[in-house]
Amino acid sequence: MPERASVVIVGGGIVGCALAAEFVRRGWREVRVLERATVGGQASIAYAGLLAVPGSGALDDPLSELGTASLARFPAVAADLRERTGIDVELRRTGALLLAFTADEETALRAALPVFRARDAACCWLDRDELRQLEPAVSPLFRGALLLPYEHQVLAPRLVEAFARAAALGGARIDEGVEVIGFERAGARVRAVVTRSERIAADQVVVAAGAWSGALAAQLGLPLPLGPLRGQLVRLHSWDARVRHTLYRGDLYLAVKADGTVAVGSTEELAVYDRRPTLEGVRQLVTFAHETVPALGQAVFREALAGLRPWSADGLPVLGRLPGYDNVWIASGHARNGVLLSPITAEVLADLLEGKTPTLDLTPFDPARFAR
Ligand SMILES: Cc1cc2nc3c(=O)[nH]c(=O)nc-3n(C[C@H](O)[C@H](O)[C@H](O)COP(=O)(O)OP(=O)(O)OC[C@H]3O[C@@H](n4cnc5c(N)ncnc54)[C@H](O)[C@@H]3O)c2cc1C
Repeated sequence: MPERASVVIVGGGIVGCALAAEFVRRGWREVRVLERATVGGQASIAYAGLLAVPGSGALDDPLSELGTASLARFPAVAADLRERTGIDVELRRTGALLLAFTADEETALRAALPVFRARDAACCWLDRDELRQLEPAVSPLFRGALLLPYEHQVLAPRLVEAFARAAALGGARIDEGVEVIGFERAGARVRAVVTRSERIAADQVVVAAGAWSGALAAQLGLPLPLGPLRGQLVRLHSWDARVRHTLYRGDLYLAVKADGTVAVGSTEELAVYDRRPTLEGVRQLVTFAHETVPALGQAVFREALAGLRPWSADGLPVLGRLPGYDNVWIASGHARNGVLLSPITAEVLADLLEGKTPTLDLTPFDPARFAR
């Protein structure tokens, strides 16, 4: 007798684990997660755990809208995970500062202020002195900063662990070291998922395989433009880094966690499947950290890491039914925002699989956009 499942989730990253936790919360049985390596291998290095609203920030930008909806769900998700698993994911409203070093950076940030104000009227520009008062550890060489009070952080490794634990406690089976190598098709349905050692009959299949989702979709006859966007991050440790807000300068950021970890991220390198950090990546990050908070010169260097973010050709997540199939779904392409977007992704995918209409319009994220 072959194994069977009501839903097989391919990939045990943060997205796959969030999905499994949501399915069991809704009472689904026979939920399986197949992970070829270890659960949360990529997101668990996202030490900063930034819940930063992506996109332009404008209220009518679909990616910003998705991020805002997900951020709004975090308090309830964190409370629910704590109740189901006892794990505290350390959700904190830290606020963020977008720093300006040059006059051009200041002009660009000031120009963006009305967009942020439309989201939260408390967003404001801080001049050099105001910035020093709020965050005295930041270098006095910065001209000022845009304050975004609504930004949050979470402990990403713990969030993945909590989703996985909630799923397992709810009856889901999570297998590590199990690679999906193919699918058994019957017309518009996938009848079974094939691993190196078994065949698992499935009512529904969700591909949540991160940067490898495109390759799996290709096996299903629909190549999707999804690949890796490598990100490097360094982890420092300091008990003296008194920085409360997330500090950004462009794509680079610095976040101090409760345990003294200073997460400094992150580079963006397209189409690199190599998870080894490079000298250039580390140099860029430590230079940024030292220039931004000079006292970090005394911080202990803990490690350098690299992870592969799933990146789609238009930079938007890919959420929905795979064209040509009745029972195959995809949840990928979350790029820099997979931690933030994990709750909303789980919610909308579970709605779709249950035949419900999600509360958000998913048209911009429809996988069919690449088939057209
Ligand atoms: C340095 C860095 C910092 C980041 N910081 C943040 C942050 O602060 N905030 C934020 O919101 N996001 C952040 N991100 C982004 C976030 O980590 C990703 O968007 C997220 O991890 C994507 O989750 P995923 O589950 O889609 O993919 P992954 O985490 O990559 O999981 C996919 C899983 O599928 C498995 N898999 C692949 N193929 C198969 C197969 N054939 N069979 C079985 N399993 C398979 C893989 O082994 C993998 O574990 C960061 C990323 C990096 C690299």
